[in-house]
Amino acid sequence: MRAVFLCQECATHYLPPEGLEYGDGPASPVWCSVCQARAAALGIPEPALARMLALRAAEQQARPAADEPRRPDVRPSRPARTRRAGTGPGTRSRLG
Ligand SMILES: [Zn+2]
Repeated sequence: MRAVFLCQECATHYLPPEGLEYGDGPASPVWCSVCQARAAALGIPEPALARMLALRAAEQQARPAADEPRRPDVRPSRPARTRRAGTGPGTRSRLG
């Protein structure tokens, strides 16, 4: 499963290809393609720690269902009671 990454530079979410490989080179787990290109142009190396954390997060994101047991459906069997205007005790006592 492909993981969505959060660009550490412009905070956009991006979806690099599987295996983190673009057609024209490696994708970064830290930067989106735009910021990666800009960093490369400026000669800024990819931060190793940020890369490791991003890859770790993507790993977790890819397999949450396998580790966690599926939670049972906890929706109520009937709709929640809501108090509508005009149906309170005041109305009832006037009718009775
Ligand atoms: Zn970016």
